[in-house]
Amino acid sequence: MPVAGRKQAPTAIEKETATVTSTLSGREWQLPGMWNRMFEPRVLSTYTATGFAALAALPGGESLEYCYGCGKCVPVCPVDVVGEYGPRKLHRKVQTGVDLFSADDLWLCTTCANCLRVCPKQVNLVEVMPAAREVAVGAGHVPRELQDVFEKSFRYGNALGENPRRRHAWTRGAGVPVRVLPNDPSPVDVLFYVEDYWSFHPRGQEAAQAFVRLLTLAGVDFAILGPEEKTLGDSQRLAGERGLFEVLMEDVVATLAKYDFARIVTPDPHGLNALRKEYPKRGHTYETLHYTQLLAPLVDRLPLTVPLDAKVTFHDPCYLGRHNGEYEAPRTLLRAIPGLELVEMGRCRENGYCCGGGGGGMWLDSFTGNHTSERLSERRVREAAATGADILAVCCPYEVSRFSDAAKSTGNEHLQVLDIAELLDRATGGATGTSEQPSRAAGGGAAGSPGPASSIERANEDGA
Ligand code: SF4
Ligand code: SF4
Repeated sequence: MPVAGRKQAPTAIEKETATVTSTLSGREWQLPGMWNRMFEPRVLSTYTATGFAALAALPGGESLEYCYGCGKCVPVCPVDVVGEYGPRKLHRKVQTGVDLFSADDLWLCTTCANCLRVCPKQVNLVEVMPAAREVAVGAGHVPRELQDVFEKSFRYGNALGENPRRRHAWTRGAGVPVRVLPNDPSPVDVLFYVEDYWSFHPRGQEAAQAFVRLLTLAGVDFAILGPEEKTLGDSQRLAGERGLFEVLMEDVVATLAKYDFARIVTPDPHGLNALRKEYPKRGHTYETLHYTQLLAPLVDRLPLTVPLDAKVTFHDPCYLGRHNGEYEAPRTLLRAIPGLELVEMGRCRENGYCCGGGGGGMWLDSFTGNHTSERLSERRVREAAATGADILAVCCPYEVSRFSDAAKSTGNEHLQVLDIAELLDRATGGATGTSEQPSRAAGGGAAGSPGPASSIERANEDGA
């Protein structure tokens, strides 16, 4: 459903009329605007190839030059929907002498890949922008808030700058035992790679707690790395810090080598992307699933007995959908919940709208806000609200906080933003939410719950 935008109209290039002097009679007359461009022809010699040459020298940086100006990429670019952006526009700027390495435009792309999906020439901003950003980072031209995240990621192993020893503090409220591999290194089927926002952000922690309750109900043998876990760093890589990404990858690979597990499951599509596409380039290959992909085939094992009478719409994460081709698993889970009616937004699946968090955008909201009429997350929340949904379901750890904030700032507080894990958990009788405590963690003893919460919490506390 279309949502009225607040996109600013571009500055008109043509004049409304032009005064023309006849070469025969010397008389002047007015020509309408549609002809005016004929009187201001583009001078080809003013174009420059210097910017393209600098980009082409970078690995993966050359493809911006392939653009032949068809313009297909612009209307699908989420940044253009709230501003002026897209590969075609960037191409034009570089062509007319703008130095992309020092321009603010360098940081606005979220690497969402929607332009690449439609581009006939395969202009690939997912490669161009990180390559150009790497040069800018090396030269010290990096937004302050991004530099802060780089430093925290290097120092603490997580983007939030939290104490690594508190990585698994969230397990205390889970209400089920959570095995921490450094304490119990015996072989395990599923290594649950929690990643930063489910480990440390309060709303992420609630989703993590819901997820381990679901794993327990489904009979999955799982464990976490606890204090030995570090961020997989894919967003830091896309934001231009490939060196940091490589350092983190070495640490992660060394940690993983210590333990015997069959597969990795993560809630973070960015972590999934790193493990599936970047680690194998260095010879590190692991079977990796997004959490929705692990749960979808097991959904029949979950006692989904509590109807959630509500209308829900779902936001496809760019790095789960377009980048890794998964659209069905989240929808399978949502459709399995009794009472829940799934309605789609106009922009969904392959054409899903970006929340603004990819490619480092998670940490650049203030910076980006100076160049757009509203945040991408705000735009998306308005699209979700326009469906009439009560709930916006998400399955990327970046999104709960982004969309919850956007729901408030756009006056859509009635729209609940919940992770699919939280919705499933509620349908099993677990009561997760922004204010509620899980009933089993509180000793509620829902069907299938594994014994008294107090002893479980003590056990997890020992681990944490
Ligand atoms: S879709 Fe590709 S070729 Fe067409 S304008 Fe955009 S970048 Fe250029
Ligand atoms: S990758 Fe996404 S945000 Fe970046 S230019 Fe393409 S469509 Fe726009």
